[in-house]
Amino acid sequence: MEVPFLDLKIQYKSIKQEVDSAIQQVLDNTAFILGPAVADFEKEFAKAHQVKHCLGTSSGTDANHLALWGLGIGAGDEVIIPANTFIATAWGATLCGAEIKLVDCHNESYNINPEKISGAINKNTKAVVAVHLYGQPADMDALKKVSAGHNIHLVEDAAQAHLAEYKGKKIGGLSEICSFSYYPGKNLGAFGEGGAVTTDNDVIAEKIKKIREHGQSKKYHHEIYGHNYRMEGIQGAVLGVKLKHLNKWTDARRKVAAKYRELLGNLEQISLPKEMPAHKHVYHLYVIRVNAGNRQKNQQTRDELQTFLQENKISTGLHYPIPLHMQNCFKHLGYKPGDFPVTEVLAESGLSLPMFPELREDQIEYVADKIKTFFKSK
Ligand SMILES: *Cc1c(COP(=O)(O)O)cnc(C)c1O
Repeated sequence: MEVPFLDLKIQYKSIKQEVDSAIQQVLDNTAFILGPAVADFEKEFAKAHQVKHCLGTSSGTDANHLALWGLGIGAGDEVIIPANTFIATAWGATLCGAEIKLVDCHNESYNINPEKISGAINKNTKAVVAVHLYGQPADMDALKKVSAGHNIHLVEDAAQAHLAEYKGKKIGGLSEICSFSYYPGKNLGAFGEGGAVTTDNDVIAEKIKKIREHGQSKKYHHEIYGHNYRMEGIQGAVLGVKLKHLNKWTDARRKVAAKYRELLGNLEQISLPKEMPAHKHVYHLYVIRVNAGNRQKNQQTRDELQTFLQENKISTGLHYPIPLHMQNCFKHLGYKPGDFPVTEVLAESGLSLPMFPELREDQIEYVADKIKTFFKSK
């Protein structure tokens, strides 16, 4: 048997007719940038996330940048982000000319630890970005409390968390502004690059709409600085079709997660992802942790497990093997090993198992079997 980490072909086949005809319509209209397909998608995506505005962008990274640009973040400012995230979260701040300030993640949710935020705030701090990492919402109530207490902005990065819920409410409208990614491998993926910004705030939405299109709302009248961060028409068409299936695909991901839990829940050498109470996890990634006794052994065992699974044709991933504070591009910030121990342990011991809606039960059983076989030989 073979188990890929992700298989986009199965999903394309299942909606081929629908999506091909939506793309054909864009070609027939030659509405290649923004246009009706993007506008329709924006409306539906906003509705699905119980938020007033959605603005389609050229990528999730661009959405990260737009969100903070829209709030007026700039040179001399600091933006707090978790040490355990994909690098694009950091580019949002750095592209504004601001600096990032890192905070460790929580040992069970793997999301930014609200208790560590006050210690990272100084007079330059302007915002904190809550990443709903791996598909699980961050602890928004605690984050709201600390950000409001210090009078700084709260922003969401929901690149991995389409349709996730926090205390019964969809993410995307739980802070002032939220960014999404539609990178093909994300829970809702375009056929190329794509992203969005969502907000309930009319003024911010208007400003971001301008920035997205060269600082104008009327052609050639550039009222403010801007850029070209528009979504392509074809991506809007593809996303509009796929959004209709997203509830079903999200349920399927949750079923895969439940099956992994059923089969691996008793294996003491690993920890499974923990769904925090009242957080609806959408399992963009299924990250397990290897517990081998100490940090060095963790990493060695994790790497051996990954190799063993690959030898058995099971593909896995690492999210993320080098935390942000250990990246060369942030050397000037002066962080050192040991600064963010939870993030570091996760980087050393985490392993992402195959996770996508079409993963079959026999494939999940095969993965679980091989993991058990590996630990029996230990
Ligand atoms: C994927 C991702 C992004 C960036 O999205 P792109 O569409 O690839 O530019 C930003 N933040 C997080 C947490 C992501 O996982």
